[in-house]
Amino acid sequence: MRLEGKVALVTGGASGIGEATLHKLAREGAQVVVADINDDDARRVAAEIEDVGGSATAVKVDVAVYEQVEAAVQHAVETFGKLDVIFNNAGIAGGKPLLEHDPSVDYEPMIAVDQTGVYYGILAAGRQFVRQGTPGVIISTSSIYGEQAAELAFTYSAAKAAVISFTRSAAYELAGHGIRCVAITPGRVGTPIIQQFDDDLKATFAAEQLRDRLTEPDEIANVVAFLASDEANVINGTVVHVDDGYSVFKQRLD
Ligand code: NAD
Repeated sequence: MRLEGKVALVTGGASGIGEATLHKLAREGAQVVVADINDDDARRVAAEIEDVGGSATAVKVDVAVYEQVEAAVQHAVETFGKLDVIFNNAGIAGGKPLLEHDPSVDYEPMIAVDQTGVYYGILAAGRQFVRQGTPGVIISTSSIYGEQAAELAFTYSAAKAAVISFTRSAAYELAGHGIRCVAITPGRVGTPIIQQFDDDLKATFAAEQLRDRLTEPDEIANVVAFLASDEANVINGTVVHVDDGYSVFKQRLD
């Protein structure tokens, strides 16, 4: 129960990494807010957490709209009295070769969600933590692609690199308020983003990691819960690689 007495909001909480993290945070004693553009699944996740004795509420949010992110933070405060942790995790993936881009389709919408959405989460939660006068934790989901070039990922890589940059700058700016900021870089996680691909591509993705398998969402959730806890107080302004060795691994020789 490392998070007893804490209130945590997770964007992209209706699926995949966000959903698994909400369950883990609730098991650790946090009261949780499931925030997602997919209202039905957000309510399903909150109900499933309550069914096993947790404390959860759902809120519809498009992270690309600042007023909605602020409203989600206020929903947490109205429901549970405060906010202690935000996990800026909502994201969309995909991409085309650069020269085939239509900027209004292949750049702007993804930047709005994957980059600006994280900025809005940092801003809205940071303002709430300062209003409360309590310490807070801001964890944001980048990606292995945030630190490298990758095929068909021009926009996604840029947005995920920005998440790392935001985390460094926000940690620096907000440390005086007792606010800690961390980015995580998942590798290949078995969520709907990856499960949509055929078995051959999934096997290729698995082979890029040292244990030769896709990561389970629960395995990412365990790290996020630790980062959200006071046990991680010394981790600030940095990137935690949750990629099963992807970022240090280049070639399998067998
Ligand atoms: P997912 O598709 O299971 O979950 C993403 C969630 O974000 C969905 O519930 C979706 O409804 C929500 N969402 C999308 N746009 C939104 C918006 N505008 N406002 C609010 N919610 C929105 O995928 P996932 O794999 O769990 O992805 C979670 C995060 O992890 C994303 O940021 C993704 O880029 C990142 N990531 C995933 C992997 C992987 O291998 N799965 C690897 C690296 C990074």
